Amino acid sequence: MKRIFIAIFMILTYLNASHVEELKWKIGETFLTFLENNSLPLRIYYDLDSTDKELATEIIAGTNFQILRDDKEKIQQVLIPIGDEIQLHIKIVDGKYILTTTPIVYEEKKEVLSITITNSPYQDIIKATKNYLLANQFVQSFKKSVNFKRLRKGDRLVVFYTKKTRLGKQFGSPKIEASMIEVRGKKHYVFLYNKDRYYNEKGREVEGFFLSLPVRYSRISDRFTYKRWHPILHRYRAHLGIDYAAPRGTLVKAARAGKIIFKGRKGGYGNAIMIRHEDGYRTLYAHLRNFKRGIRRGKYVKKGQVIGYVGSTGLSTGPHLHFGLYHWSRAINPASSVKITKSVLAGKKRKEFMRYTAKYKKNIEIALKKDIEPKILKNFDYIVSLQAKNRYVE
Ligand SMILES: [Zn+2]
Repeated sequence: MKRIFIAIFMILTYLNASHVEELKWKIGETFLTFLENNSLPLRIYYDLDSTDKELATEIIAGTNFQILRDDKEKIQQVLIPIGDEIQLHIKIVDGKYILTTTPIVYEEKKEVLSITITNSPYQDIIKATKNYLLANQFVQSFKKSVNFKRLRKGDRLVVFYTKKTRLGKQFGSPKIEASMIEVRGKKHYVFLYNKDRYYNEKGREVEGFFLSLPVRYSRISDRFTYKRWHPILHRYRAHLGIDYAAPRGTLVKAARAGKIIFKGRKGGYGNAIMIRHEDGYRTLYAHLRNFKRGIRRGKYVKKGQVIGYVGSTGLSTGPHLHFGLYHWSRAINPASSVKITKSVLAGKKRKEFMRYTAKYKKNIEIALKKDIEPKILKNFDYIVSLQAKNRYVE
């Protein structure tokens, strides 16, 4: 990783008067229109393989990105983050522009928060940490099991979590490992266990966001990954969804009730539908052959309702459904939300779980004894990290 930054820095030391512009990705801008508007060769996009074309479709409006120009205003590099893990990197190699994907570097830090609730869990967590995503995750995980209206003065909450930092600032999505909230003195727990799923203290999976399978598939042809080193291509790959291979024409169904907010062509995703659900969730259905009649933007659909048919539109090597799940614009792995496994731990698994949680419960008891508030860090304003000469922009 360091090598990449040293390489960038070395290139830049040869560029006098190069300067970095920080910009926001515009609403309605696509990767192609961006290239066009900045007089960059469209070949950068057309030369990409299907996975990277999909990734280029994932740029979120409002994302902060950077352009590095030389003294003649010629674009030298562009860095556009996609989520917290990976960024698109346009650069010049042998006089030609190319696009690669590079990981975003960050550190992980374990933290404990132990406070008395004075306003609401959401407001109090934000006040103590300035971490909106942490507050949101906490509330989501107890939403179905705890009535926050019943909270009483003096009730407390404890959260054990891992947060990401980048150059001393907090950044990206934190991960709650264990949390507890008292409601009128009664303790309720949530634990992360079993491949990133959340369970209550009895080993029952927390009912958060469950999706039904959107298609009857023959096999999973590609899994979700934020960043994976590809040993043959010698570069990083990201795939922000699950590819379900299925025969052309197979029915595609809404994984949950919601409102259709997009229907049409979507870059590398071909014919696509996007549905907005409760609580900031969205699902994406891509590479469709065609849409179900009557399906249009603005329409509400039920869970399981047919919305389209499996195809191979956009860039795809064979008929499959690319299924994506987003929470507050951040791609998350649908595999942990699609309900296919039993949601209650039993037998040996449960015993293991009980041992695991007993340890955490002890730590929670210790944490409860006094207020613990992690040092408040500034939030990272922009994720990217081009470096102009003599100046670290990170
Ligand atoms: Zn895909």
